[in-house]
Amino acid sequence: MRTSVGIVGAGPAGLMLARLLRLAGIDCVVLECRDRAYVERRQRAGVLEQGTADALRAAGAGERLDREGLPHDGIELRFGRRRHRVDFPDLTGGRRVTVYAQTEVCKDLIALAETDGPPVLFEAEVLAVEDVDTDAPRIRFRRDGREEVLECAYVAGCDGFHGVCRAAVPAAVSRVHERSYPYAWLGVLADVPPSHDELVYARHDRGFALLSMRSPTVSRLYLQVPEGTKAEEWTDEEIWDELALRLETADDWRLERGPVTQKSVTPMRSYVHEPMRYGRLFLAGDAAHIVPPTGAKGLNLAVGDVVVLARALEHERRTGSTELLDSYSATCLRRVWQAERFSHDMTALLHRDPRAGSFDDRLQLARLDRITTGRSAAADLAEGYTGLPLG
Ligand SMILES: Cc1cc2nc3c(=O)[nH]c(=O)nc-3n(C[C@H](O)[C@H](O)[C@H](O)COP(=O)(O)OP(=O)(O)OC[C@H]3O[C@@H](n4cnc5c(N)ncnc54)[C@H](O)[C@@H]3O)c2cc1C
Repeated sequence: MRTSVGIVGAGPAGLMLARLLRLAGIDCVVLECRDRAYVERRQRAGVLEQGTADALRAAGAGERLDREGLPHDGIELRFGRRRHRVDFPDLTGGRRVTVYAQTEVCKDLIALAETDGPPVLFEAEVLAVEDVDTDAPRIRFRRDGREEVLECAYVAGCDGFHGVCRAAVPAAVSRVHERSYPYAWLGVLADVPPSHDELVYARHDRGFALLSMRSPTVSRLYLQVPEGTKAEEWTDEEIWDELALRLETADDWRLERGPVTQKSVTPMRSYVHEPMRYGRLFLAGDAAHIVPPTGAKGLNLAVGDVVVLARALEHERRTGSTELLDSYSATCLRRVWQAERFSHDMTALLHRDPRAGSFDDRLQLARLDRITTGRSAAADLAEGYTGLPLG
């Protein structure tokens, strides 16, 4: 089998790249190890930056997003039982975010690929990418119990953090920068209307809590828990009680409870692999970088990377120049490091670090005080949350 661009992984990065290349008339094939139902049901991110929503619209994947997505003009910060709204359009000159689940983004992009192409081969597990430092890279994969090879001009490694593409970059070239955190997020999906119309980020002495949503009838809620916690260690009742405590306010706001339909633990990690390109292999999304979920950046970074990559491949196709492909890694990393900074700062601002002392606690409160009383600190948060322009 042969194509121009072999895309490994049908997460948001791989599917969006496939769509953009299809629109640019560049042939490609997507190889995904899971089945379609699994990819469409995998609960993960849910907040789209302004630039991500605009990119999806421009790619023709905005119809359901505009109908069902929930535009949000701010978030609420809670600490000391008080509530403070951060108004995005006011602080950023009109930018906002849209709440629309990653599952829905993937469903929309898969549906488009099904009608318009390119081929997305599910249950095709990539075993290795080879010869990426030559003009003829090869992707070895297994489908229906048989080994096959996809020959291509370029490989897009969109296979997430646990994929195989990153390993094709020689150790002598790779530089890894990472940080781990001594806590994780216990997340639940619940069939209950959200108790607030915007996301609520709460800093509490017992730990961080987040009230979020997937739709007008489905809430997504998170609790900071110690690293290594198993979801089964918490009963639904205990989760609701803890959420109610950490989100409590001095006014008459109340947390609505409902049936929990999913429960899982998300680890927290910051990770960047440099460079994001080696030879004819281009890493995009979680394959190259991970952020803790506090800033809601993972999916947005994945889309940002492939917008840059699609533009570079199209430029090469049109002009024969590899100039944009050559600058791919540097262009993406500039934005990636801004998102890493923002995600790290939001995490440190709102979580209780078990190693922290009273001095750190006071610093955290002083930072929150500054954001909720000073325009420049609030604007910095609003700009980071709504996202840097793509590309
Ligand atoms: C549990 C969890 C919860 C998260 N919650 C949030 C959140 O609340 N907010 C937020 O902003 N971000 C969140 N994220 C991060 C966000 O979901 C990711 O940043 C986003 O999915 C990145 O997209 P991607 O396409 O780069 O990678 P992925 O979505 O990981 O897609 C990679 C794809 O490659 C496939 N693949 C892997 N190996 C192979 C192989 N060998 N052969 C073929 N296919 C392969 C995988 O099956 C997968 O479909 C979460 C992540 C996780 C894991």
